[in-house]
Amino acid sequence: MLKTDVLIIGSGIAGLFAAIKISEFANVILVTKKDKAESNTNYAQGGIASVIDKSDSFEKHINDTLIAGAGLCNSKAVELMVKEGPDRIKELMALGTQFTQKSGKLDLVREGGHSMPRIVHAKDLTGKEIERALISMTNNIKNIHVIENTLAIDLITEHNIPDLRNSPLDKRNCWGTYVLDGNQGKVVTINSKVTILATGGLGQVYQHTTNPLIATGDGFAMVYRAGARIGNMEFVQFHPTSYYEPNKNTTAGKTSFLISEAVRGFGGILRTKKGEAFMAKYDSREELAPRDIVARAIDSEIKKSGEEFVYLDITHKSKDEIIQHFPNIYQTCFNSGIDITQNFIPVVPAAHYACGGVKVNEFSQTTINGLFACGEVSMTGVHGANRLASNSLLEAIVYANRASIKIKEMLKDYDTSIPEIPHWDDSGTLSSDELVLITHSLKEAKQTMWDYVGIVRSNNRLERAQRRITNLSDEIEHLYKKTKVFNDIIELRNIISCAGMIIQSALLRKESRGLHYTIDYPNLDDKSKPKDTIIQNREL
Ligand SMILES: Cc1cc2nc3c(=O)[nH]c(=O)nc-3n(C[C@H](O)[C@H](O)[C@H](O)COP(=O)(O)OP(=O)(O)OC[C@H]3O[C@@H](n4cnc5c(N)ncnc54)[C@H](O)[C@@H]3O)c2cc1C
Repeated sequence: MLKTDVLIIGSGIAGLFAAIKISEFANVILVTKKDKAESNTNYAQGGIASVIDKSDSFEKHINDTLIAGAGLCNSKAVELMVKEGPDRIKELMALGTQFTQKSGKLDLVREGGHSMPRIVHAKDLTGKEIERALISMTNNIKNIHVIENTLAIDLITEHNIPDLRNSPLDKRNCWGTYVLDGNQGKVVTINSKVTILATGGLGQVYQHTTNPLIATGDGFAMVYRAGARIGNMEFVQFHPTSYYEPNKNTTAGKTSFLISEAVRGFGGILRTKKGEAFMAKYDSREELAPRDIVARAIDSEIKKSGEEFVYLDITHKSKDEIIQHFPNIYQTCFNSGIDITQNFIPVVPAAHYACGGVKVNEFSQTTINGLFACGEVSMTGVHGANRLASNSLLEAIVYANRASIKIKEMLKDYDTSIPEIPHWDDSGTLSSDELVLITHSLKEAKQTMWDYVGIVRSNNRLERAQRRITNLSDEIEHLYKKTKVFNDIIELRNIISCAGMIIQSALLRKESRGLHYTIDYPNLDDKSKPKDTIIQNREL
């Protein structure tokens, strides 16, 4: 058993930023399931939104965020994020992050939904630069111990201590985590006074996603199993245009390359497979309509035609200009056989961001004592029903910092009496020699979620998906109980659990709001007060 003051799970922006802050007063173990840099953070392109310029104001940023959130944002949480943002950006810079500058000042750009240019960025590789700087800083801090290739399996709370299993849900504690140490191939118990979940998103629940393979929703699923509250899981943001690679099988767990919104801003036209431009049918702003409207239009065309993609056409622009503006997109498509200066680009929407998550208060505390959640896995309330572009990296640093403030206070008078924690018991289980069961179930879950719980929903589709996901869940639980744990089975179980939560929340919302659109309730429910959908596992 390993012991530490604070255990952090995840090495994206939220986990690393929290680790650096907490190392000022406590010892930290940070576990991450692959190598340190592999995270959603590493792929973030655009940047971080914050009020930097004198002509901008907190009120404007708050207002833009509230508009995007379609009536469901927690305005206190938004205000904290916006007002504390500039100081956190300065800290990122003090930690070594090099943002793009123009004439000696931060170069601020404007993105969809923002009324002012306020996006701080490092060219179009902002996330990579932040990860580089934060990893390099943590490497030099002695009381941060980073353990790579180590996957958190389950939180240690009353639910896995036999004598305490029946204790009330609102009085539960977290004493650490069981992890699968991929370096030694065995399960290790890590006992901590405080645990922070910074495990990122869940894009891999869907067939098409911009998220890397690590985004299997492990944090959401672990918390569900432990009985904490989870909210607004139906609000999954889909990016309208990811590259549909002709020969790439996305059902077995792959990442789709993002074709930036800037391509539509540059004059790109969306066309059906027959070559007809279609956006004018859906919105007068055509290709420049907001993300969710464009994604719905593409989805509708795909569903009508039965094709798997539509086209994005920029062939009417000059070759030199295309290559100059989009060198990375040009090269990536070219390498897979599409010259975007000559050919239409096949595109499909892709799951991009989870707006809901583990419900936390303004100090990132979950409903389990000693358990915090920061970054994409958490639901602070800042995104409401739809995330404003570039607010997620900001939310991650602001709320990681707020967690560190509360943890400092808590550690001062920490009650050291903890129950005896049982070791991981896998007696009677066998190593699986039937990987086909895993790959088949994974394909089925991702396809089901894509077809029935995607951009446009209906009661019929959701109920059909629920029946299929419940079957898959029963099968995986059966297999899990008799198998020695390994990464693929843990991740599949978590993906299926997240799929179940998204469906459950979507069925609870009897209206269309923000990212959740259902043909059975196509309008906002304006008769009742907007409310969050909260789910909690009560079978503990
Ligand atoms: C292509 C793309 C572009 C984006 N562009 C922007 C942008 O311009 N601006 C913006 O604000 N947001 C953007 N986002 C969203 C943003 O990048 C993420 O929301 C943010 O980086 C999440 O940070 P995080 O620290 O919460 O999680 P992540 O960065 O995803 O880190 C999660 C970490 O947890 C680890 N982990 C997960 N499960 C386990 C487990 N069971 N055990 C151990 N470790 C585990 C992972 O390996 C990883 O290290 C983008 C996202 C994508 C995918």
